[in-house]
Amino acid sequence: MVAACLALAALVVVFAGLWLQGRRRVGEMMQRREAELQELQRLRADVARLASGLAGTADGLFVLDTEGRVVASNPAAQELAGLGGTTGVGQPLAELLPWPRLCASLQAPRAEGEADTFELDAAVGHGRALAVRVRTLPGLGIVVGIDDQSRIKRLESLRRDFVANVSHELKTPLAAIQGFVETLLDDPEMPFATRHRFLERIARQSERLSALVGDLLTLSRLDEAVVDHDAEPVDVMAVVRETMRDLGALADKKALQLRGELPARSIWLRADREMLRQVIGNLVDNAIKYTPQGGQVTVRAGAQHDRLRLEVVDTGIGLSPEDQERVFERFYRVDRARSRELGGTGLGLSIVKNTVKNLGGDVGVRSELGKGSTFWVELPCLPVED
Ligand code: ADP
Repeated sequence: MVAACLALAALVVVFAGLWLQGRRRVGEMMQRREAELQELQRLRADVARLASGLAGTADGLFVLDTEGRVVASNPAAQELAGLGGTTGVGQPLAELLPWPRLCASLQAPRAEGEADTFELDAAVGHGRALAVRVRTLPGLGIVVGIDDQSRIKRLESLRRDFVANVSHELKTPLAAIQGFVETLLDDPEMPFATRHRFLERIARQSERLSALVGDLLTLSRLDEAVVDHDAEPVDVMAVVRETMRDLGALADKKALQLRGELPARSIWLRADREMLRQVIGNLVDNAIKYTPQGGQVTVRAGAQHDRLRLEVVDTGIGLSPEDQERVFERFYRVDRARSRELGGTGLGLSIVKNTVKNLGGDVGVRSELGKGSTFWVELPCLPVED
């Protein structure tokens, strides 16, 4: 009996010990689990904070774990990788963006904090020029920054073309002037009539240079200009009539009919009068230049509510659809030699476009080759009563 009691007591002690041990283990497990849960929540909060921080960045950013799987990405990165609004979380970046140079960089051993920077051209980067930066973060993983440089590259190439064009345009008349002057100096006995012809040519080339420099200065002023909302209102119809009067002689010389279909009332808009005159003058001057003898140039205008529409319609040589797309570019000319002969700089329409854009308006062209063109301008004006 005593032995049985002792055995039972021993059993109870063992069970109690086991139970206590079990309880302690469960307690420890629960504590561990609690700590893990807290860590998980902290991590989630970190990722959410990271994601919202990334969302405001214009550059594409992927945060990867040490295995190269996406932990977080921002909308710019998702757009670059064509993820269609999904984050790509959990997927290996090398699968989302299988660009060999990027894959090699992700696999390359790198000291923590060290960055690998490289550029990908448009052929690789879904039609965009990309600058990529891969950096290993101590204890965290890898951050991949992708910067879309297409716009900067495009601007750089435009700037390079512009400088090359300006240099070329300046060089031609300067070389001509130099040539004429040297000929005059070389022959002091030159007959008066020949000398006069050379001097006339020098004068024509100087005029060309001065027109070019004038247009370049206008363009650079326009690049910096901000819309002057306090400018005094100008009556556009008065400016149109004045410009047509100024250019009447040029039209007469080519036996062109220059007509206005203009409202009798005034239409006011806040702008620099000289700028407006330049816009209208350029369009009418072009219409006259590019319309053969005996043709017609019509200036139409009208306003509805607070929008003015002005059209310069000609029965001239017209423009092909490809040329219609490009005529507003700086120095673009369909027929370079013809434009030069007519005293053009190739900058008139780009000045028109920049001025109109600065005034918050729009400009465009409709045309048919051999039939004629309609250049139109829409500008915000002071409200008119219908
Ligand atoms: P340009 O000084 O050569 O006239 P613009 O910038 O004013 O320069 O015009 C660019 C080009 O657009 C011209 O060289 C010409 O080829 C074309 N163009 C402009 N206006 C007309 C028009 N009314 N009809 C046909 N072609 C035009």
